[in-house]
Amino acid sequence: MEFSLTEEHKMARQMVRDFAQKEIYPTIKEWDRKHQPHPDVLPRMAELGILGINIPVKYGGQGFDYITLALVCEELERVDASLRVIMSVHAGLNSLALLQWATEEQKQRFLVPQATGEKYAGYALTEPDAGSDPVSLRATARREGDVYILNGEKMWISLATLADHMLVFAKTDPHSEPAYKGITAFMITKDMKGVTSGDIHGKMGVRAGSTGWIAMQDVEVPIENRIGEEGEGFYIAMSCLDNGRFTVGAGANGCIRACLEDSVKYAQERQTFGVPIAQHQLIKQKIAYMQQWYDAASLLLFKAAWLKNQGVRNTRETALAKWYATDMSVQAALEAVQLFGAYGFSDEYDVERYLRNAKGAVIYEGSSEIQQLIQADYALGYRQDKPLRCEPVPYDAETWQSEA
Ligand SMILES: Cc1cc2nc3c(=O)[nH]c(=O)nc-3n(C[C@H](O)[C@H](O)[C@H](O)COP(=O)(O)OP(=O)(O)OC[C@H]3O[C@@H](n4cnc5c(N)ncnc54)[C@H](O)[C@@H]3O)c2cc1C
Repeated sequence: MEFSLTEEHKMARQMVRDFAQKEIYPTIKEWDRKHQPHPDVLPRMAELGILGINIPVKYGGQGFDYITLALVCEELERVDASLRVIMSVHAGLNSLALLQWATEEQKQRFLVPQATGEKYAGYALTEPDAGSDPVSLRATARREGDVYILNGEKMWISLATLADHMLVFAKTDPHSEPAYKGITAFMITKDMKGVTSGDIHGKMGVRAGSTGWIAMQDVEVPIENRIGEEGEGFYIAMSCLDNGRFTVGAGANGCIRACLEDSVKYAQERQTFGVPIAQHQLIKQKIAYMQQWYDAASLLLFKAAWLKNQGVRNTRETALAKWYATDMSVQAALEAVQLFGAYGFSDEYDVERYLRNAKGAVIYEGSSEIQQLIQADYALGYRQDKPLRCEPVPYDAETWQSEA
């Protein structure tokens, strides 16, 4: 067992920390208040290679491992969840799925421009009437010769209006029994005729992030854009979540750290009864819990990262890490707001933003209730991992960092 970070891990973490803290933090509140994405975030993440941080060099990425991905997501959400959401959908839910499931030709066409940051990517599973239960999705894909005709609506989609490539799920066999075997995955592109999108307004959190809807009306999608086999979409969607949830959990740990660091500073400055509030035992307890949640979440996340590096299925471990880290990030943010008193209740400080952002992560990519069902079903023996046609790709420094 190895707990130390390599020089490469530290270097990548520092690069992302510098970007998030120095370039984005100074104006993030402004964009959060405006409910608009910070305009520099996506182009700079592309330029710095963050969007392809753990995609092999031969596919245009930086060739780092899954520990690095966790560190990157933590640093991004230390500043704001909207930065990390980009990694969750672009890298976690889309690029890593292509690495696992796409053909070599599709990797060249879609993965390479995504890893270099030339194209932005998202993942559209949720619909107005299908969230926790994606098997009930209604979007359809009808085969006509060499194309599929897609119709349907997707809702609550991150980067809906910004992504060039969108991994969408639709029913090729709406009457399939079991129903999940009727779902197929497709890559649609923004410029396809019949694709429209818009932003969702009035969100509680991730206000500096882009969340929207996508409508597909008689969209002709060439067969070459089908990812995986017909009927394999549900397996693909779930394997995407194994990576997406990991990035959400790692980001949530960044939120816990933000609450901890900000609370430590404030508790030493703010005085009541003639002493800094840090000296009151009930304040120390809040700090102690935040430290406990951060360290415990780190262990769960790094265990999941270690399994990912081996190419071992990690659905249970990732779901556990996501559940714990996101639930605890809500707790940490609640405690931080309390510790800041009335100032915590105002947007003069960051902790109210952390709380609004943290609440999203216990809903998306599988709510905390769904993560609990997953843990219970594994423990009870109701759920086992069945072999996939394409298993997760193990990390191997030599091949991931080679140009060939
Ligand atoms: C900011 C944001 C970004 C998002 N980005 C994306 C994206 O990029 N792509 C995408 O596809 N989706 C995205 N989503 C959608 C998200 O994944 C769904 O909201 C989530 O899966 C929950 O679905 P729902 O909102 O329809 O809730 P529902 O499924 O309607 O659930 C409602 C409530 O019931 C609970 N519940 C449901 N079933 C059970 C059960 N069996 N047992 C116990 N409790 C249950 C849920 O936990 C929840 O509390 C995003 C959502 C948000 C808020």
